[in-house]
Formats: sequence, C-alpha cells, structure tokens
Amino acid sequence: MPDRIDITIIGAGIIGLAVAAEVSGNRRQVFVLEQNERFGMETSSRSSEVLHSGIYYPPDSLKAITCVRGNALIYERCRKYGIGYTQPGKLIVATNKNEIGRLEWLFQRGINNGVKKLKLLSAREVKNIEPNVEAAAAIYSPSTGIVDSYALMGYFLTHAREKGADFVYRSEVTAIDKTASGYLVTVADDSGYSSFKTAVVINCAGLESDCVAAMSGVHIDEYGYKIHYRKGEYFSVAREKCRLIGRLIYPLPETDDTGLGVHTNLNLEGKMRLGPNSIYVNEIDYTVDETHREAFAQSVKKFLPFIEADDLDPDTAGIRPTLQKAGGGFRDFIIAEESGKGLPGLINLVGIESPGLTSAPAIAEMVSDMVSEIL
Ligand SMILES: Cc1cc2nc3c(=O)[nH]c(=O)nc-3n(C[C@H](O)[C@H](O)[C@H](O)COP(=O)(O)OP(=O)(O)OC[C@H]3O[C@@H](n4cnc5c(N)ncnc54)[C@H](O)[C@@H]3O)c2cc1C
Repeated sequence: MPDRIDITIIGAGIIGLAVAAEVSGNRRQVFVLEQNERFGMETSSRSSEVLHSGIYYPPDSLKAITCVRGNALIYERCRKYGIGYTQPGKLIVATNKNEIGRLEWLFQRGINNGVKKLKLLSAREVKNIEPNVEAAAAIYSPSTGIVDSYALMGYFLTHAREKGADFVYRSEVTAIDKTASGYLVTVADDSGYSSFKTAVVINCAGLESDCVAAMSGVHIDEYGYKIHYRKGEYFSVAREKCRLIGRLIYPLPETDDTGLGVHTNLNLEGKMRLGPNSIYVNEIDYTVDETHREAFAQSVKKFLPFIEADDLDPDTAGIRPTLQKAGGGFRDFIIAEESGKGLPGLINLVGIESPGLTSAPAIAEMVSDMVSEIL
C-alpha cells in the first residue's frame, strides 16, 4: 500500500462502488477498502432490486432528490452498458374507499417530488390492466422498474477500476485518526495491522457506518448518527401464481414511515416474492421466521386475493441501516462533509437505507462535488 492516498472509501457495497466510479480519475489515488472477500456481500445483495421513482419521501429531502435523479441515471446506464433491467411500472393501491384520500395525498407528493408520468387510476382502470388485483383506486408509476443489482455493482466496479481505483478486500478499517493534513487509517488484514495516510475519507460502511463515523471522532449520539437495524424478510410465491400480475403491486406505505408495506416483488426472471416486512432487531441475522407466513399472506390478501399462505416459502432477508428509531419519525440520509465538526476531508454517508440502491449514482455525484471542494 502506498504511503499516502488521496481518497479512501470504506465499504464496497453499491454506495462505495458508485462513489468510487464517480470520484476516481484526474490522477487521484483512490483506494476502496472492504472487509469481506468480495464487493456487495451485505445489504446491497439483499434488496428488492426495485428502481423506485421517488414518490414516498418528503419534498426536498435527500431521499426524494437522489431517488428521482438516481432512477433516471440508472436507466440511462442500463441502456448504454447492457445492464439487465425491466420497467414493468408499479401500482400503489387503495384497498377501500377510506384509503383514497391518503392515496391522492401521496400522488400529489410524487408530483411535487418531480416524479414523471404518474397517473391516478379508478377501480375499473386497475381491473383493465391488472385483472387479478383488487383496488378501489391506484397510483400508476411507470418509471418504477427492476435492475440486476449485481450487474449494476459490477458496472460501477469496472468503471472505477478503469479510472484507476484500487480495491482491497479482506481489509477492515479499525481506526481513523485525524492528522495535520488528513487522516491516518488503520486496517486489519490477514497479515495484521497497517496504517496509511489519506487526504479524504469517505464512509460508505452501510450497517457499520455509525461505528466508522464514531471511529473518526464524530459523537454519534449527539449528532443523531446512530444506526438501528430494521430487518425485512421475504417469502417466495409459488411459480403458478407468478404470472397473475404484470406490475409491482404495493399497498399504501406504513403511516409511521417504517416501510412501504409488504408488497410484491418481481425479479428479472419473473419470480414473485412478497416482502419485505419491517422488524427492529438488535443482531444481524438473515434467517426468515417461517411463522410469519400467515401474516404475509393476510397482509396482501386485500389486494391480491389469489395469494394463500400455502403458496409461500421463506426466501431471503435483509437489514436496513436506519436512523429512525422504533416509534420515531422520518429520518433522511446523512450525506455530510464534516468540516463543521472539525473534521475536514471526512465525508459520512450514514443511514443509506431504501431507496439507497436507486439513489446510488446521484449520491455519488453529490459526494464528488464535495470532494472537488477539498482536493
Ligand atoms: C430488505 C431491503 C430491501 C431493499 N430494497 C431496496 C429497493 O428495492 N430499492 C432501493 O433503491 N433500495 C433498497 N434497499 C436499500 C438498499 O439496498 C441500500 O440502501 C443499499 O444497498 C446500501 O448500500 P451500501 O453500500 O450503503 O451498504 P452495504 O451494501 O451494506 O455496503 C457496505 C459495505 O461496507 C463494508 N464495511 C463496513 N464496515 C467496514 C469496515 N470497518 N472496513 C471495511 N469495510 C467495511 C461492508 O462489509 C459492506 O460491504 C433495500 C434494503 C433492504 C435491507
């Protein structure tokens, strides 16, 4: 490892990879340090792979701004570089007349966020396009799609490498100390501990991003950087039922901002899953609790009456790195250059939960602007 590096990125999930692709080049020496043996082995390979359109988030929030921009950027790159995707669109359904007011409110929020081509559909219009779905009304979002997230990560990795970035796996960052002109980063790998100097540190450590921020000297409780783990489980749906819908079908989101409600997921092969649910947990544990099968079936029955508990099998689970405490209100992404905390050249990305996959290239652009101010 060279004695001094310009930019050190911690974490090779979708965010670290997208950031590396954006900030590399210009003769900068960029290192990406990842504790696992490959890229994308944590949250980024456990998502629904949905390219969200940006309807849900409060206007002017980082989630709304980066989601709307990221959605357009990812489609553009998928077309240009042959990354697998489909764009089936999505329906968010009101399951009875009492929910229509909230549906209309959400529709207006989407319009205010700049989501294009949204439409409000009547019950009859829903039946015309999705005969197996029950709804009193729905929002149709044609820009919602599905991406091959592994291929997207592979694209960012290749692009970053072509621009000169180096990826170092099985290397866990264990300490970050401020120096007069940057940071001294300590890494644990197979051969023990070693340290190097870097001008810029970019924290893309996902579920551990609060620990990495704390390592670098940020008081995470004081600044509200503490991550809470919120688990999401999936159940796969029996093959013969998978073709009964052609679009992603979602209920109205939870009123307390803790999730989008158990919904359908379609992958690029047309396999249908239900999920993710939303459960605060203390440990990282990716097992799926089989006893949740009945609750999954019941939660979608109102709009997908053809689903029976017997159709469902436990599938995967993921853990959201969320800033919102159980019972707390909406929290936005933290994307911060920390000069204001006496830590110039440190960029923290904390709480990058959904729509983090969609937002990744737009977050990377924001980070690149911050880096340009420093280097
Ligand atoms: C169930 C679920 C469903 C989701 N569905 C969607 C969706 O459909 N659409 C969407 O847009 N978003 C979705 N998301 C959100 C999206 O998956 C995340 O926002 C995104 O993957 C976060 O990427 P990341 O790179 O920040 O984190 P990660 O992928 O977790 O990457 C962080 C990396 O940092 C590494 N690391 C941590 N600490 C250290 C250290 N000290 N030293 C070295 N390396 C370190 C880790 O090993 C890891 O590889 C979903 C999330 C979940 C949990």
